[in-house]
Amino acid sequence: MSLVDLMSMAKPNLELRDKILSKLGGQELVNCYQCLKCTSGCTALKLLELKPHEIVKLVNLGFVEELPSSDTIWTCVTCLKCVQRCPQKASPYHLIMVLRNVAVEKEAKVPEGYLKIVSQILETGLAESSQKIVTRNMETIDRDHLKLPKIRHPRESFQAVFMKAMEEK
Ligand code: SF4
Ligand code: SF4
Repeated sequence: MSLVDLMSMAKPNLELRDKILSKLGGQELVNCYQCLKCTSGCTALKLLELKPHEIVKLVNLGFVEELPSSDTIWTCVTCLKCVQRCPQKASPYHLIMVLRNVAVEKEAKVPEGYLKIVSQILETGLAESSQKIVTRNMETIDRDHLKLPKIRHPRESFQAVFMKAMEEK
């Protein structure tokens, strides 16, 4: 069943909506007048089951229950174009970030790629591991080849601080 089908059966949850709005600090979703500027410039539009202006509309109306467990909120590529384009400071990007936090709080399914990034940061301090690349001469090179310094792994205190930050709401 698609998210759109679920929405048609949903009831508004005004308490959760107000909680989400209160976390948006300065982003005035209620001022959205559905001009679609966010959607027309969205980098991830083809991947989104719901479009940015639709997500804003649903939240304003209180149809928020299904959003945290939807893949849609993880499809946004955080390019911030909608923030720049919105004439009303009703940023879909900030809303999507709050919905991701709500998803984690509700222990909804988080895409595997994000979990991999978190464990990689814990292990190495980096979101991406160092990679080999192929030059235009078809030569494969890595950090050693470029005489770059060794990557230092984070101290244990980093892991404790990182985990604490993850747990903070
Ligand atoms: S969020 Fe902003 S850009 Fe998007 S429809 Fe609403 S007012 Fe327009
Ligand atoms: S931040 Fe997300 S919702 Fe906003 S334009 Fe980029 S991909 Fe689309």
